[in-house]
Amino acid sequence: MALRTIPSLGELAGRRVFVRCDLNVPLEGGAIADDGRVRASLATLEALLGAGAALVIGSHLGRPDGAPDPRYSLAPVAKRLSELLGRPVRFASDAVGESAQNAVSELERGDVVLLENLRFNPGETSKDPAERAAFAARLAALADAVVSDGFGVVHRAQASVTDLEGLLPSAAGLLVEQEVRVLERLTRHAERPYTVVLGGSKVSDKLAVIDSLLPKIDTLVVGGGMVFTFLAALGHKVGSSLLEEDRIPDVLGYLERARELGVTIELPEDIVVAERFAIDAKHEVVSADAMGSSRFGASGLGLDIGPKAAERFARIVRESKTVFWNGPMGVFEFPDFAFGTAAIAQALADTSGFGVVGGGDSAAAVRRLGFHDSDFGHVSTGGGASLEFLEGKALPGLEVLGWA
Ligand code: ADP
Ligand code: MG
Repeated sequence: MALRTIPSLGELAGRRVFVRCDLNVPLEGGAIADDGRVRASLATLEALLGAGAALVIGSHLGRPDGAPDPRYSLAPVAKRLSELLGRPVRFASDAVGESAQNAVSELERGDVVLLENLRFNPGETSKDPAERAAFAARLAALADAVVSDGFGVVHRAQASVTDLEGLLPSAAGLLVEQEVRVLERLTRHAERPYTVVLGGSKVSDKLAVIDSLLPKIDTLVVGGGMVFTFLAALGHKVGSSLLEEDRIPDVLGYLERARELGVTIELPEDIVVAERFAIDAKHEVVSADAMGSSRFGASGLGLDIGPKAAERFARIVRESKTVFWNGPMGVFEFPDFAFGTAAIAQALADTSGFGVVGGGDSAAAVRRLGFHDSDFGHVSTGGGASLEFLEGKALPGLEVLGWA
């Protein structure tokens, strides 16, 4: 079955619509470091406002522990959203409490309220369905209909993502619709050769997807923090690099499985090893099988793929017809360790194939490096969600919108 979309909600003029956005932006010193997710949410918000609705917007930010935590307040996002929408955005200092209720009771057509971080409430992400349902019921009381547009969370069964959608008339927003269309292209009719590039620091999360991706692709390129679990599995020393030692047996399994399937797993032949994790750390390029003998010894840590690997990986990307890239190749936040990520980004921008960037930090990285979303086939707002979609998993936040 197809996704229910906004027109299925009927007449929206004068109705209060709850919009579940993903406004989980990276913050640095309280300022928004990359407003890509706010911008990606605008089309749906503008469409609903154009239809005469009043909007109650809910989102999460970071991973607060089910309780208010000023470090994860959405207040700076309310300000940015107001600038981008060109209209006032009222900020409620809670999600379902007095502040939210007051703001919503005064809502008129065209008004916009942004609720405080939904995850300040334990019910949002609770594993207990009853607790989630109770929180969803309180959210439902704020609106007449719900539009689900937080693509970054559709792989999670959470109160505002799945339970709420079952309580009110619900539909996918334009962003979710667009993301699903792109990912369908990657799963159902991907042109070969098909390359997936994985990196970043959420090593365990991403290792888990390799198993189900292998049968679907031709080449898996591994960079970023994931590399060291592979190098360690091959018996190499990795110093103090990011390493998930307990996953080494899994990695050996993936390498074996890839051989059976005829899928190539590409690992970097060289690594930029740093003295410590710092923007101004001393560093040198060493061969990937000789990290143990870098001049920094056992405390050295790999913070980027080396220039030879970057060049080779870039060529693989350029020569592919379909590329999905999730996870930076190195600690791109530090200029000395951004080369690998920049090389992949450039190749993806250059390729004549269909290139998709997925993952919050990956998207932030390409923007920080000066690329525009239009340089790529698509920049996905959801890392985990897009990976699970590619794996062929059922995503609860899409299923509740009619997707099957
Ligand atoms: P995404 O959000 O794109 O899915 P992740 O959240 O998994 O990506 O990882 C992003 C982070 O990975 C970045 O902050 C980057 O600094 C970090 N990273 C990349 N390579 C390394 C590395 N070799 N060691 C430590 N961290 C790394
Ligand atoms: Mg991330």
